[in-house]
Amino acid sequence: MVSRLGFIGIMRKADFAQARADMVEHQIARRGVREPLVLAAMARIPREAFVLPGWEEEAYEDQPLPIADRQTISQPYIVAYMIEAAGLRPGDRALEIGTGSGYGAAVMAAIAARVYTIERHAGLGETARQRLMELGFDNVDVRVGDGTLGWPEAQPFDAIIVTAGGPKVPTGLREQLAVGGRLIIPVGESLHRQSLVRVVREGLTDYREEDLADVAFVPLIGEAGWNATER
Ligand code: SAM
Repeated sequence: MVSRLGFIGIMRKADFAQARADMVEHQIARRGVREPLVLAAMARIPREAFVLPGWEEEAYEDQPLPIADRQTISQPYIVAYMIEAAGLRPGDRALEIGTGSGYGAAVMAAIAARVYTIERHAGLGETARQRLMELGFDNVDVRVGDGTLGWPEAQPFDAIIVTAGGPKVPTGLREQLAVGGRLIIPVGESLHRQSLVRVVREGLTDYREEDLADVAFVPLIGEAGWNATER
């Protein structure tokens, strides 16, 4: 027999699963994200496990939500859009700058072979590491530090996704792409409005750059980003 608490737990789990399926259909697929790998990953990862305690009911809303240190967990659609734009494939080695809650890294890890993710706020980084471990992700490495410098020991990467907006594409990140690798990054002169840019490394010294969409991300703070005092 299922206890009352157990029953509520089961109900909530079923509700979250339904909310997740609705999110994939209405917010993501219907807006044009078609890659089956991305849709399947978004349908698998329990977003309610990545939001602040008390915010679980809002986890599948069509918007970013607050997390600690005045940062945000990105809107589900933009997470899916960026991963599709990065052309993430099984077997890829991927780098994420801006771990935040760990949600984006989890979605990437459901597709790629290995995900490296860097967060500048120690508290966020440690919480995300613990959470990803408890959820059973053994193919994600979390580092606390300045992601604008990349993760030189783990390069080259097939895909790099930056989840905060900087004034320019950090040279160090471009150089850590494998040939054929894709970098997705919000870039703009304003602290809070950017253009989402895709950089493809076409050769040892050749890069192709294109604008994908107008976006609004939190600032990328670091040596090759904004100064901490500018935010
Ligand atoms: N991917 C995250 C998620 O799924 O929750 C969303 C992250 S939030 C939109 C952007 C994150 O980038 C923030 O947590 C912020 O602290 C982090 N950040 C900003 N500048 C950074 C830097 N230079 N290195 C690493 N993380 C940085």
